[in-house]
Amino acid sequence: MIKRRTFDVLVVGGGPAGLAAVSTLLQESTKTCVWVDPQFRSGRLINFTPVPSNTRTSLFVRYAEGCGGGDGLAMRKLRERRQDVGCELKLAAEMVREVAETLAERHLERLERVWGTCEELEQTMDGWNALFSSGESVMVEHVILATGAHPKPGPSIPFDGIIVDPETLLRPSEIQLTAQDTVGVVGNSHSAVLILMNLSKLPSPPRIINFHRKNLRYAEYLNDGRIKHDNTGLKGEAAEWAREGMAKVERVQLTDEQTVYDKWLPECTHLVWAIGYERNPLPVIRDLNGETVMVSGYDTEQRLMGTNDKVICNLYGLGIAFPERVIDPSGEQEQAVGLWKFMPTTKKLQLSICN
Ligand SMILES: Cc1cc2nc3c(=O)[nH]c(=O)nc-3n(C[C@H](O)[C@H](O)[C@H](O)COP(=O)(O)OP(=O)(O)OC[C@H]3O[C@@H](n4cnc5c(N)ncnc54)[C@H](O)[C@@H]3O)c2cc1C
Repeated sequence: MIKRRTFDVLVVGGGPAGLAAVSTLLQESTKTCVWVDPQFRSGRLINFTPVPSNTRTSLFVRYAEGCGGGDGLAMRKLRERRQDVGCELKLAAEMVREVAETLAERHLERLERVWGTCEELEQTMDGWNALFSSGESVMVEHVILATGAHPKPGPSIPFDGIIVDPETLLRPSEIQLTAQDTVGVVGNSHSAVLILMNLSKLPSPPRIINFHRKNLRYAEYLNDGRIKHDNTGLKGEAAEWAREGMAKVERVQLTDEQTVYDKWLPECTHLVWAIGYERNPLPVIRDLNGETVMVSGYDTEQRLMGTNDKVICNLYGLGIAFPERVIDPSGEQEQAVGLWKFMPTTKKLQLSICN
């Protein structure tokens, strides 16, 4: 049961981006917040617990400290690790959960958490009326959507074998494939390479065919501390493995996709689409006239846009669903995705909400 009916800010999503938003608002303003998530179990990170991180452990510690950190067990575990290399994402997931709990205890007066989903946002003259899956509703001035993303499904093409959920293959203990199987992995992303690595390291690995459009790209650490292709290049254990391990994989370039699939898919018993992530469905958004508004994009201040790219008042996006666009050292535009990378975006957002 929600205790109060009005808040300054609603944050939707309890993953790393939602935590960054709530902690920044609580620490750097006097705003009251209502925070909604079905579980408050660290968002999608919970699916990646055995995955080796592609960022250094020190960045998780910096993120956590930016969120108000604390000195709980998960924080201590992270701090005890070597800081200049990666760690398994389990430690990051535990930290996000712990910091969220600490924050909720510390700010009882200004933060209320709601277990469930935000189903609908109705624009009002003063802000938004938000409806939750529990049937309850609250009035808020601003809304931040940190609603996350899920693996992008592949196109529906004829395939007689089994389509495998890519995230299952990120968890080696759940993989049930053997040398009798032939697995087609479509994609060249960080997740795709982690999947190829996990498959090839099985005690009795299947035949692995990797369908890809582009060549692999690696992040480059420059002398001035910046990282070229930081968000699009391979890093960490996946990069280390790919430099040699790719030799164990049959690589098939998707030149003419139809011809390639016609030729190769009949050989595959299993197929995995590891072609990136797409935004989760958003709550239904209604304007002042009660009309449904479809989000068409977001601007450089993370403000969401609706019909004709018009900014929707007091509605913002954050995290992997609405990553900040940045320019990398090679001059290419990238989307900044990662726990530590959500912090500067969040600070910018907090400033525009509070000014
Ligand atoms: C394989 C892989 C490896 C990665 N490795 C790293 C790494 O090493 N380092 C790093 O920094 N990052 C890494 N990332 C990126 C990082 O994990 C994600 O970017 C991060 O989880 C995204 O956080 P988020 O809060 O934006 O979204 P999510 O984690 O997806 O959280 C969104 C939350 O919102 C909730 N939600 C959605 N809709 C609603 C609604 N209507 N109402 C209420 N709640 C809702 C969801 O249930 C979920 O809990 C990796 C990602 C992948 C895929």
